[in-house]
Amino acid sequence: MRRLAIFLGIIFVPIFVGVMLLGTSAWGQTSGQTSGRRPSPRASLPDVYLITIDTLRADHVGCYGYKQVETPALDALAADGVRFTQAFTHSPITNTSHITILTGLLPSVHGVTDFGVPLSPQHVTAAELLKKRGYQTAAFIGAVILDSNTLAPGLDRGFDFYDNFSAKTETKQRWGRVERRGMEVVAHAESWLDKHRTGPHFVWVHLYDPHDPYEPPPPFSEKYKDHLYDGEIAYADAAVAHWIAFLKKAGVYDNAIIIVTGDHGEGLGEHGEETHGLFLYDSTLHVPLILKTAEAAHHGTMIDSQVRTTDILPTILSATGVAAPAELNGESLLPLIEQTNTAQGPNRTLFGETDYPLRWGWAPLRALRAENTKLIEAPRPELYDLQADPKELKNLYASDSGKAQSMKAEMAKWKAKLPPQANSGKPGETLPDPKDKVEVQNLLHNAMLASDDNRSSDARQFLEKALQFDPSSPTALRQLGELELTAGDFAKAAVHLKRACELRPDDSTAAFELGEAMEKSGNWPGARDALESSLKLAPSQMSARLLLGNVYLQLEDAKNAADQFEAALLVDSNNSDGRLGLAEAQIQESDFAGALPDLEAFTKSDPRNPAALRLLARAYRGLGKEQDAKRAEEQAAALEKK
Ligand SMILES: [Zn+2]
Repeated sequence: MRRLAIFLGIIFVPIFVGVMLLGTSAWGQTSGQTSGRRPSPRASLPDVYLITIDTLRADHVGCYGYKQVETPALDALAADGVRFTQAFTHSPITNTSHITILTGLLPSVHGVTDFGVPLSPQHVTAAELLKKRGYQTAAFIGAVILDSNTLAPGLDRGFDFYDNFSAKTETKQRWGRVERRGMEVVAHAESWLDKHRTGPHFVWVHLYDPHDPYEPPPPFSEKYKDHLYDGEIAYADAAVAHWIAFLKKAGVYDNAIIIVTGDHGEGLGEHGEETHGLFLYDSTLHVPLILKTAEAAHHGTMIDSQVRTTDILPTILSATGVAAPAELNGESLLPLIEQTNTAQGPNRTLFGETDYPLRWGWAPLRALRAENTKLIEAPRPELYDLQADPKELKNLYASDSGKAQSMKAEMAKWKAKLPPQANSGKPGETLPDPKDKVEVQNLLHNAMLASDDNRSSDARQFLEKALQFDPSSPTALRQLGELELTAGDFAKAAVHLKRACELRPDDSTAAFELGEAMEKSGNWPGARDALESSLKLAPSQMSARLLLGNVYLQLEDAKNAADQFEAALLVDSNNSDGRLGLAEAQIQESDFAGALPDLEAFTKSDPRNPAALRLLARAYRGLGKEQDAKRAEEQAAALEKK
């Protein structure tokens, strides 16, 4: 029965596979020409090009009035189209925000509020809708956090081609492994468009450059050396320029709808936040939004009404005549541009959300931004008069004030329409206010970047400092445990990881790593308990399964060892460690005849594996075949000498 439970656990863990279908190539013979497009029944449908620039604050773009950066491509696009001065994102987190842009749904409606959470098939995306209308669809991403095979499952739905990262990257550098420079992203998009000339097209280009660490290439690294974030923006703008020039040369610019926005801004130290994700201040919610309509019918228009990133999808749908799905949280921007009345009035209320603090066990936040007032729902709520105090420095919240009460009533109305909130702690428990934890979060973020760049001593310093602020931070303890594990100090690693598991009993990775640290220090019963609990939380972990099998072998519990190896072989029947582990368990149980056939097959196909030959010798000896045993041992010894 128990064995069955292990097997079922594995079978029912969903596997998400990004499907990449290459669109059919057409019009190749005229590739590169700027005229003479073959007329098609859908010739009148405009191409749609969505450009998202990661971590782009509206107030750091030239056409938004910032003087310390040059963004000629964005400025020119704004001159050809409509610039929304008051556009806001609903989420300060990359994948959550992008899914909101592509579905027109609020984060708590689409449910992707953390990395790795799959987008439910019930929520239809822009790519799916446009593909149904006959569009050729492709997406080009600049960071692995939007990779649909790993951290953003489901984001590729509806795209004929989705430019994921290679799973087999050898490099330790961040370039190509976790991030692509904007010029590379754009080059991939241009090459795809060259091969898929028949429109209409929906192409999404994601430029990750302004996201930290700020490392623009030359000459931007030199020109902006004292403000590298702006240097990244200027570089991303150069990539936009390349892409726009390509579209013009291909003759598709004029009739295209081009949308540029940011997924969120950047704290840059405001409110103590260096990057983004933790808070819902305008530093991370206010983004640029530029819309060039087909034929640039509205060039140079500026709109000051408050709008949201959920309005982007409905705008694309109404501009292309695609029927909107039943569930949408935004509204087309076209009536604002045409200066007609809209249902929600000129200023559209923004509902902001972040569940990111939950990662560290802190309270999630909600915000309502309406008519120059912002309410932030937090353990210590905040209320700002955005006209008098645009930097949100003077918290006016008093629970009995009329303004606070009316904003709270409005927020309650919004929340009533949403699905139940994400887990925000046990009933009656108040989670810490992220405002009290921002230093810890900055340190954890810096430690993560240092680890990414293999600067382990820097990472250790950041983590130790984070633990001084917050001795019971499960994230800091886990990351420190991981560092010690890599450094080979298994006893120290086990201490940190044990504490992390006590604080976060649902963290399967910390439990696995604790098992690893204990196994490496020879604490078999401790390793067994940690690995069992990790596998209970996440049954499909192959490496945990194999390690637990080996721990049971050490404990001379052959029956349980065999269970684990058999479970692993159910997932991958050819796994060498699983096969040898199972044979060893059978030998331990004196089932030599049971072990022999697979060991013979194994050593036949892989005759240079001394461990397999040693096991084969034991099986022969157990069956009284002394000659065969000796021969296998000699072969093993010869290989071990080499
Ligand atoms: Zn982002």
